[in-house]
Amino acid sequence: MALGRTSVIALMALVAVAAPGVAGAAWTGPFARTASNPADRLAALPIEAGGYDRAEGCTRRTAAPGALALASWLGRTTAGTSWGVVRCERWGAGSASLHAEGRAVDWRLDAGRPAERRAARRLIALLLAPDRKGRPAALARRMGVQEIIFDCRGWFGGAPALGPYARCRAKGVDRTTAHRDHVHLGLTKDGAAKRTSFWTRRAPAPDKRERWTPPPPLDLLPD
Ligand SMILES: [Zn+2]
Repeated sequence: MALGRTSVIALMALVAVAAPGVAGAAWTGPFARTASNPADRLAALPIEAGGYDRAEGCTRRTAAPGALALASWLGRTTAGTSWGVVRCERWGAGSASLHAEGRAVDWRLDAGRPAERRAARRLIALLLAPDRKGRPAALARRMGVQEIIFDCRGWFGGAPALGPYARCRAKGVDRTTAHRDHVHLGLTKDGAAKRTSFWTRRAPAPDKRERWTPPPPLDLLPD
C-alpha cells in the first residue's frame, strides 16, 4: 500500500510520540506523561502560554522570589543542592544571563555520576512532560521555567524537546560551561515573581494563557 505524504508524516509523528516509552529512549524528548506530576493537580486550570523573557542586565543583587521557591521545591523533590542564583554576567549591550536578573537556579547534579545523571534526567522529564490533558511542558509552564540546560543539551520555552547546546561546540569547553556538573533552570519574569499558577494555584491572567483551539471537525481533516 502506498502511503501519501501526509500519512507518512503522521506515522513519523506517532513514532516520535511513542518513542519515550521505549526502553533506552533518548532523554531529550519528546516526553511522555509521568506518574505523580504536580501539574496534574492543576489540570483543571487554564495554563500559561509559556515563552521566553530575555535578560538585559544586572538588575538584582538578591534572588527573585520565584527562584528561591524553585530552589526550595527542588530541595524537597530531587537529589542535588543549590549552586546559586544571582551572578552578574553580561554578554553585551542589553544582553545578559538570567542569573544577572536573579531568575535562574543552578542545581548541582553531575552528569558524570550515574545516580545524579538519572536524577537530573528525571527532573527534566518531569518538567517537560505533558499533563493529563496532554499539554506539553506542563510543569515548566506552571512554574514559569523557560530554559533548561544540562549535559550539552538545552531547552528553551516552546521547544518540543532538548536540542544541542551551542556552547559545547567550542573546543576544550569546561564542564561547568557545558553544564555537565549542574542543571540550569531559568525563569520567565512571571515565574521569577512567583506569579505563575504553580505558586498562586489560580488561573493565569487571560493574556498569559495558552490559547486552545478546538480540533477541526472530521470532514475538514486532510486526507
Ligand atoms: Zn546557570
